[in-house]
Amino acid sequence: MPNPREVPDGPRTRPVTVGLAPVAPVTIGGDAFAIIAGPCAIESADGFRTVAEGVRAAGAVALRGGIFKLRTDRLSFQGLREAGYEAARAVRDAMRMPLVSELTDPRQIEPMRDFVDVFQVGTRNMFNYDLLAELGRADRPVLLKRGFGATVDEWLKAADYVTAEGNCDVVLCERGIRTFEPGTRATLDLTAVPIAKRSTALPVIVDPSHAAGHRTLVTPLALAAAAVGADGLLVEVHERPDEAQSDGAQSLDLAAFRDLVEQVTPIVEATGRTVGTPSSVPSR
Ligand code: PEP
Ligand code: MN
Repeated sequence: MPNPREVPDGPRTRPVTVGLAPVAPVTIGGDAFAIIAGPCAIESADGFRTVAEGVRAAGAVALRGGIFKLRTDRLSFQGLREAGYEAARAVRDAMRMPLVSELTDPRQIEPMRDFVDVFQVGTRNMFNYDLLAELGRADRPVLLKRGFGATVDEWLKAADYVTAEGNCDVVLCERGIRTFEPGTRATLDLTAVPIAKRSTALPVIVDPSHAAGHRTLVTPLALAAAAVGADGLLVEVHERPDEAQSDGAQSLDLAAFRDLVEQVTPIVEATGRTVGTPSSVPSR
């Protein structure tokens, strides 16, 4: 088994391919910059479909959509939970785009494994080593968010809990850390991208949405992420952000997302890569 902590002399990143039939596979960490976009939480099949069609037309290659949400306030919307499985499956299958969704408990692996292409581990669970080891045995790619209080070294060591079980398909995601700065929800630590890439061959993407906390900051942070060498983005988009049941303040509407992709494209190209285009995703 290749050791993903060994950075080879050739191409430094070992690409991770995600997406099971009927989905068109997408590679993260190759020459194409992968933009993953969708709502914080799936709220309805219709809303999710609207966002999915819009982000695909704009250039996203994979979808995000939370089903189980870990909310600080227990009275906040917790996601559709099991009731969201059908909408997630229907939209992902119809769009033929890989779906990234967070799981919070190993018991969710089995019911979600045939329609969730990438299991996301959220910032709160980065230190949940039993969950990580279980995902290491689950035969599905994992998107591992950095804990908001974790060093880069702790984050990479968390990834080792997955890879040590035989699953090397791990994508790291920087999403901001907690600092004394109150102007944003978290401080996006872009230094983490080149630092992580020096010590691991795993792809590293950036989530500008959860760091920003406000939609006006998402595109500038996304541009910086591309410039610093990230392998892609994870962006929250909602068809009507002001009515979103979670993270509306940091969610882009479809027009703002199109603008983000337009602005990020020349920066990605300046770093010798291309933005994964909708043409790389077969239509129905
Ligand atoms: C999310 O992606 O919706 C999420 C909850 O992210 P994080 O775990 O980084 O806060
Ligand atoms: Mn969110």
